[in-house]
Amino acid sequence: MDHRLFYCDHYAIPLPAGHKFPMAKYRMLRDLLAADSCFRFEAAPFADPAVIELAHDPTYVRDFLNGALAEAAIRRIGFPWSEALVKRTLASVGGTLSATCDAFDSGWGGNLAGGTHHAFRGEGSGFCVFNDIAVAIQWLRSKGRIERAAVIDLDVHQGDGTAQIFESDVNVLTLSLHAKSNFPFRKQRSKIDIEFEDGTRDAEYLNALDGVLPRVFSFKPDIVFFQSGVDPLACDTLGRLALTHAGLKERDRRVIGATRAHNIPMVITLGGGYSRPIELTAEAHANTFRTASEIFLD
Ligand SMILES: [Zn+2]
Repeated sequence: MDHRLFYCDHYAIPLPAGHKFPMAKYRMLRDLLAADSCFRFEAAPFADPAVIELAHDPTYVRDFLNGALAEAAIRRIGFPWSEALVKRTLASVGGTLSATCDAFDSGWGGNLAGGTHHAFRGEGSGFCVFNDIAVAIQWLRSKGRIERAAVIDLDVHQGDGTAQIFESDVNVLTLSLHAKSNFPFRKQRSKIDIEFEDGTRDAEYLNALDGVLPRVFSFKPDIVFFQSGVDPLACDTLGRLALTHAGLKERDRRVIGATRAHNIPMVITLGGGYSRPIELTAEAHANTFRTASEIFLD
């Protein structure tokens, strides 16, 4: 049986030459997974701005959509504003919302975008405009579908936006495992933060993950969001850690396997990945979805 995944890579945003955002990886990832034949792909629908406002300041949402953000706010996001950026951003959030529906219907849902965890309630940052995971959580709560949610954020950069949005919210557990000396340099407080020194390898990383995962499940979340950034790889140019592809695969297997074992609906979003060549990033992202497909078929 093939599982559907949502994509928005058909909205290419115009970027200046030499821009650090790895636009190519999104389509590359979809092509890799298409070759596996256990997935089918659907263009992500646009999220309704009213739903986005459940997690974001309405003025910020409106100003972004209308191209009216101040220059400093645009600079902090890191993308030049364009109509294409608006479309891609709405589809990226919409993909996570659709994947959330799949999680309830079939155990898990996947978005080949999203995981934009540096977005705060009233501003974007670090290539993140809206916080898709925060929007999905607030949306589910507004509909009475869930009481508690957990976010497992394994991107190498702290999920600072998500942490701050839910800082004083007792019903959302935010967990972030990240490189201590990396962006964002001013860290926020997740409910659980695990910081790694530069050069941390597979064994130490996986040990730390094993130590903390039981705390996620003892929280008894009604849904788990997995921000599956692959920038902890040694070959990542922005990562600072030293994980291998095998180590990252094992990471995914443990997170997805434990969530499945507890019978909790799971949403998997992308996250960062900036390896050189970028094929190494795409391969690691593909492994995450292959792993989910294997585990959920059992
Ligand atoms: Zn990252």
